[in-house]
Amino acid sequence: MRKRFLQTVKTADQLLQELFPICRSLTGEGVRTTLKLLQRVATFESKHIPSGTECFDWTVPDEWNITDAFIKDASGKRIIDFKKSNIHVVSYSIPIHRVMTFAELEPHLHYLENLPTAVPYRTSYYQRDWGFCLSYEQFKQLDRQGKYEVCIESRLEPGELSYGEAVIKGSSQHEFLISSYCCHPSLANDNLSGVVLWTLLLQELQKRTTRHSYRFILIPETIGSIAYLHSNQSVMKKSAGGFVLSTVAGPGPFGYKQSFLGNHLIDRVIRQTFFELGIEPRCYPFDAYGSDEVRYASPYFRIPTGTICKDKYYEYEYYHTSLDNLDFVRAEYLVQTLQLYLAAIEMLEQNYTYQTNFPYVEPMLGKRGLYPSIGGSIKQKATSSQHVTHQYKLVDRQAITGTQLDAMKWLLFDCDGSKSLLDIAEQRKMSMSLLFETAELLRKEKLLNRKVDT
Ligand code: ZN
Repeated sequence: MRKRFLQTVKTADQLLQELFPICRSLTGEGVRTTLKLLQRVATFESKHIPSGTECFDWTVPDEWNITDAFIKDASGKRIIDFKKSNIHVVSYSIPIHRVMTFAELEPHLHYLENLPTAVPYRTSYYQRDWGFCLSYEQFKQLDRQGKYEVCIESRLEPGELSYGEAVIKGSSQHEFLISSYCCHPSLANDNLSGVVLWTLLLQELQKRTTRHSYRFILIPETIGSIAYLHSNQSVMKKSAGGFVLSTVAGPGPFGYKQSFLGNHLIDRVIRQTFFELGIEPRCYPFDAYGSDEVRYASPYFRIPTGTICKDKYYEYEYYHTSLDNLDFVRAEYLVQTLQLYLAAIEMLEQNYTYQTNFPYVEPMLGKRGLYPSIGGSIKQKATSSQHVTHQYKLVDRQAITGTQLDAMKWLLFDCDGSKSLLDIAEQRKMSMSLLFETAELLRKEKLLNRKVDT
């Protein structure tokens, strides 16, 4: 278990290191390169929507590519250099190359006075403009009387919006959405961590036979989800809910952004996952500012999605700055969050509804060898070898424990066909996997029936 965890950490770390330097944006070579590299780890299709495609009230923009950019001082020295960090250039900047005064340059400079060593991340997707981002320290050193050679070698021309897609087919009618975005340049927690987690989660689920279907999409934020909804209206309308992966590897606390419903199955499996692990996440109610969950929850689609974060976007100081880099995130945190998502998905998979074959009175467990043979020891605290203690472990944290006998008793009491395993887990404060394993044991003993899957 530990060995597998460490192996996944290594893979996550390699992906973070390899993908971090790539200059990604809504469109362009950076996104395509990223998708290609990820396709070595998980199987998915790379798809494309042409620039100019109308999607509801939006239009897929021209493709943006950039090869170089700099600001040179009078001595010809590159004082701001795209090659050192791609976030020095406002994403979607139009090309420019000329000498200008400080006064001409200044309106195009972006910096943060309150975080003087950080370079902010800025975009200008829908307004043709250009700009540079620099630290406040760098800004203060600029000669107010000086002249500067300013150059952005970019191209904005019809091309395509690229995205990744994979559908894992299950046997039930339910399809869940797992979405992340891939449009940020060299920024680690928001959003490279989400990209890597999306890939590792896909890789892991592709190894399994799943009960439900899972639609994985990796798109540029906002316009990507809008374009995807537009071209996949009927399947998205039927989506059973899902997860939007974002900001999953920071040093700060675990967080959970609720779906727009707040108490949907997705919310409940996330809450139960945290509960079983003894982690109290920071809870963020749904709000209309956020990532693609807002588009998915639009009135026509109303797809409830939840988000598990580690250092949620908007909440950490380094958000959208050069300090959100590979020193800020850790692959180990990313894999911890991955395991939370896997545990939540496992609960979706295990959430069957059972019905007892013994509705009049409970069946006699003793004659089936399912009950401790020496009477009187039940409920005593001392450990009895008859009690099979089940421990649910994840990331070396020990969660709630309970005996299999407890699970049997409650299952035979609760399973009247109206309650799902999650209902029982929540009400009885027991682990879903213990209930599932026990319910399957009772099914084998012909004490419970599983209701037909829908
Ligand atoms: Zn962002």
